[in-house]
Formats: sequence, structure tokens, C-alpha cells
Amino acid sequence: MRQNNLLASIALVALAVCLGSPVFALSPLPTATAEDRAQAKEIFKQLIEINTTDTPRGNVTTATAAMQKRFLDAGFPAEDVKLLGPDARKMNLVVRLRAAAPTSEKPVLFLCHMDVVEALRQDWTTDPFQFVEKDGYYYGRGTQDMKDGDAALVATFLRLHREGYKPRRDLILALTADEEGGKFNGASWLVKNHRELVDAAYVINPDSGGVELNHGRPVVTAVEATEKVYSDFQITAVNPGGHSSRPRPDNAIYELTSALNKLAAYSFPFELNEVTRAYYTRLAGQETGQTAADIRAILATPPDMDAAKRLSAEPGFNSNFRTTCVATRLNAGHANNALAQTAQANVNCRIFPGHSPEEIRQQLIGILGDKKLVVKYVSDAGDISDTAPERKAMVPPAPIKEVFEPLTQLTQAIWPGTPVTPVMENGASDSIYFAMAGIPCYGFSAIAMERDGDRAHGQDERLPIDSYWKSLDFFYSFAKAVSSK
Ligand SMILES: [Zn+2]
Repeated sequence: MRQNNLLASIALVALAVCLGSPVFALSPLPTATAEDRAQAKEIFKQLIEINTTDTPRGNVTTATAAMQKRFLDAGFPAEDVKLLGPDARKMNLVVRLRAAAPTSEKPVLFLCHMDVVEALRQDWTTDPFQFVEKDGYYYGRGTQDMKDGDAALVATFLRLHREGYKPRRDLILALTADEEGGKFNGASWLVKNHRELVDAAYVINPDSGGVELNHGRPVVTAVEATEKVYSDFQITAVNPGGHSSRPRPDNAIYELTSALNKLAAYSFPFELNEVTRAYYTRLAGQETGQTAADIRAILATPPDMDAAKRLSAEPGFNSNFRTTCVATRLNAGHANNALAQTAQANVNCRIFPGHSPEEIRQQLIGILGDKKLVVKYVSDAGDISDTAPERKAMVPPAPIKEVFEPLTQLTQAIWPGTPVTPVMENGASDSIYFAMAGIPCYGFSAIAMERDGDRAHGQDERLPIDSYWKSLDFFYSFAKAVSSK
């Protein structure tokens, strides 16, 4: 998942997070040398050209094992480069750059998923599994989501090691399987089965957040501080069926579609949390006219529901204001001349933090308003169950100064004039598994992208080459800033 497209035109003013004096020198900002860049590009190319889709052609282990070899070849001790997982094709790699001396201070973990969404050659201008350099971009499946981050962090860890850097605390890089889909989510598996390998003070997840550009000018640096929970529900209508020449009054297809129409007309309640309230408070100062007035009105107590309704016409605002549930697939009937015995829909929900999938399942039953319909939960692995998990979305962690201070300083050095803004992502990422384990997570890709440049999961996915170089500089200095004496 990668969402750089923020909500509206913004040039925010100041960071709400309180900052002290700089803890490390930034001028001049150390930039990657030509050799560093060459290696980082080679790693990026290698990863793009290994198909890591959850398909018969894909294999995550090929990619993680290739990175393991790089770390071992570079001289990392074998015990600090662990390849492990529940499936031979879905192995995760956990790399540890050890502290100079034993310390009780918890490590910092960088979490990067290695799998990508399927891409078909005929849909693309270039071969999605070839790393193509063209017009100032790198093309290929995963160039945005998220082999850019994978490659940048692998290159960063190798560079720190090559330079003999000794951190004051351990730095961990976890390269994981099945974020986009599949049965073997590596982040979840590592937290459950090898907590000791991935336990950390906090997680930096380059799968979200980033720098938004407006015609090349950086306008905002978004750090994901909370996110919605992804949930699928299966809605089923059944009927005895029969010959279509003798329609009966009850009908599985009509019952299902009329219930879905009720869902289409329904809006979940408007909500704000600590993160979105702070975000809109700042956005109000940058917007003009009706939009600015409406944003102020939703921040009032009680919020102005007419203003919320006007703003909700924009899908970005709407999905940031509430839980959303939308029908994404339909399947019904078995023959052209038979009454459907089964009609089924998938409803995809993005649940606002503070609510559980089971709570939303109960609400869906009420909204659909037809007791004959059965509403079941579909897990990420595709398993169907009568009830949904009770777990709630990750609660926004307080912004940690030791994260936000270097992040802000580096942002000012690399993308000057862009305020750092904690945001709630409307998508979902692997951060949830660490958040549920009580480890704060911050999403930041260090990638600068035009507002309309998001091609993650889409055709001709590409990354501006310059954005890749800047992400290298960011992660190198950031990793040092959070781990130097
Ligand atoms: Zn992703």
C-alpha cells in the first residue's frame, strides 16, 4: 500500500510537534556517492526483476534469499541475517545491524514488504518485471509499492556496515511476504512467532506517507500515524431457485441487490480523532472560501453536519471522515435459464480507528435490513467465518520526539519548506500487526511524488529517479540520527 495522494491542495505552515534544538549536524547533509547510488540502483533492478507476486510465477523467497546473500557477502554475521517463514516460497528476511555495545535500549525496526501486486505484460507499455529507465523514471512493478523502499533500506544497511558505522542501539530491517495478499503475511508471522527478532521501540514503515509535490514543489510531508482497518465481508442470499420461466416472488439476486442499494445510500457516522483533527485544523488555515469555512465548521463542537456532507462529496475527505463499506464483487446464478439459488457480494470496508470488524459486521446486518441475508467475515487469507475479529484499529501513538525531530530536520534539508504532518491513511498496511503488539508505527516512504503520480497497483508503475536518490539520503541520515550517540 502506498498513498501519497493527500486530501487537498495544501501548503501547511508549521509542525505541531514541538521541536527542540537540533541533536545532530545537518550541514552539509551527507549524500550518497556515485558508488552508493550505483549499488542502490543495482539492488532496485534486481528486486524489480524478481517476480514476488502471490501467483504461481511469483516467489518472495527468491528476493529475500538474494538480499540475504548480499548481506552475508558484505560480512554480516550469519546470526544477524535470518531467513525464516512458514512457507518455502514466502520466507522473510530479518537483518540486524548490531549496537557497538550491549544496550537495554530497544532497537528501531524498518518494516518493508517484498511482495507486489500482479501485473500483466499486455496491460503495460513496458515489461512490468523488467527494470526500465525512461524519461527520468524507473519503470516496473513495485517501483512505488514498495521495492523502492526495500532497495533503499537494503542499500542503507549495507552502506552503514561498509562504513563501519556502530550504532548505539540495534537497527533491524525486516523484509516480509504477503502484505498485498496471500496466506503468509510475514509481519504478522514474525510478531507472533519471533517477537524477539522484531521487538523494537518503534517501527518505521516506508509503505506509506511521503512528500507530496505540486508541479515539482514539495508541499507537504505526510507521516502516517494511524490507519484504517481493512475488512472484507461476504453477503449471501439463497433461494430454492427453479425454472426461470416461472419466476417466484422471492429471488436471491433481487434480495441481494436491494440490500446493497441500502448500503449505497448509507453513510457511516462522521468522526475525527486526534490525528485527523490536528490535520484539518492546519488544513483550514491553508484552504480558502467554502472549503476553509466547511473545515472550520466540522472542527466545531458539535461538528456542523451540513459542512461535513459538503466536504464528503470529495472521496478523499469522505474516506478520511468515516468508516466506508462498498460492494466490490458480485457473483450469482448458475445458468441463464434458472432462478439463482445463490447470490453473493463482497463488501470491502475500511474501518475508522476505534471500531472492530465485528462491530461493523453487526452494523452491516442492520443496514442491509434483510434477515434472510447472511453476513460473514472474509479474512486476509480468504477464510470465511461467521463472526469477525474484535480487534480495533491502531490507536494513534503520540508523536515521538526522537522520530519527529530528525524527520523534520531532514525533511527541511531535503525538501525545504514542507511541514511534517501526521496523517491517517485510508488504506491499511502491515503496521497494524506491530501496532496490535503495542509497538508504535510511523509510515514514511521518503519518496516525493506528484499528487497525480500514484501508480501503485496500477499500469506502468514508475518512480522519479531523483526521488529514489533523495530517499537514499533520507534513510541513511535518519538511521544514523535515531541510533548515534
Ligand atoms: Zn505496499
